Amino acid sequence: MKDSYGRKIEYLRLSITDRCNLRCRYCMPEEGVESVGHGGVLSYEELLRIAAAATRLGVRKIRVTGGEPLVRKGVVGFVKQLAELPGHPEITLTTNGLLLDGMAADLKQAGLSRVNISLDTLREDRFEEITRRPGLQRVLDGIHQAAAVGLNPLKINMVPIRGVNADEIADFGRLTLEHPWEVRFIEFMPVSGGLGYTDENRFSAQEIMTELESLGSLTPVERSGPAGPARLFRYSESLGRVGVIPAVSSHFCGECNRLRVTADGRIRPCLLCSDELDIREALRQNVSNTGLEELLRAAVVAKPKQHRVGEKDYQEGRRGMQQIGG
Ligand code: SAM
Ligand code: SF4
Repeated sequence: MKDSYGRKIEYLRLSITDRCNLRCRYCMPEEGVESVGHGGVLSYEELLRIAAAATRLGVRKIRVTGGEPLVRKGVVGFVKQLAELPGHPEITLTTNGLLLDGMAADLKQAGLSRVNISLDTLREDRFEEITRRPGLQRVLDGIHQAAAVGLNPLKINMVPIRGVNADEIADFGRLTLEHPWEVRFIEFMPVSGGLGYTDENRFSAQEIMTELESLGSLTPVERSGPAGPARLFRYSESLGRVGVIPAVSSHFCGECNRLRVTADGRIRPCLLCSDELDIREALRQNVSNTGLEELLRAAVVAKPKQHRVGEKDYQEGRRGMQQIGG
């Protein structure tokens, strides 16, 4: 599938739940989070129909996300069904890592190829401050277990925020000296209102680079796989690499190859634009496979050229990342 700007769309992100066992301050409010509830969330059967239609249209990679995908019952079996779809798309998953230690082996066995783990601090007290829950050691155990069972190359995502955790960028960069991991730094994005985003507390890609270079000089790394938003670098003796994702300060939209499906069954052509197409209603009206494919194609056509964050009239949306599926 090609969109109106010639971008090849081959990556689908499926949010399988809007529930989460953490409450990261930049993603979700502490209270008053309305879950779409059991009936509102797409069933695994519905998600599989979407995934199958997408693979027929050329999608090669499917990421399972949320909310926290590992809190949804049956996720291992779902991963297995995704991996067995005709065309055998690559299946990856984004998680906060809390439940990974006990699940990594089963997920690998089910056909998961890789995992991205979100971690914003290496300090227990700060972990609790940012996520409003304890659990740093469990996440670290999950990371090591994922690497041990071969969910590689393992990626760690960190969102540096000024005055919160940006002073740990070099500590995260240091992890790549000893481990063959990709540690990626993602600029804080104004996804949803009321979660503390300001232009001032966003730590820019340029500032992230400066922090990383305090450890040693960085050499750009050529990508071996398909294009992605991260600019990759390595230190001279490092086993892993670091990635910087300038989500806001410079457009990565030219390389955008993805569609998202929210937990409540909306296709979202762009993370940072609120436009969505209702696919749940179509599924519940017994849409045909051809009808499903048409909906996906329509979403691809609706992809905007680029997001409008930073423009005068840009407004944060009403949905948090945990609903959209970051
Ligand atoms: N719960 C899982 C996790 O945390 O990895 C998956 C869903 S979470 C919404 C996906 C990613 O979105 C996480 O890496 C998180 O750091 C990121 N995220 C959430 N809100 C964000 C924001 N405002 N700006 C940048 N990244 C954000
Ligand atoms: Fe949950 Fe992930 Fe959002 Fe944190 S970033 S609250 S772990 S969905």
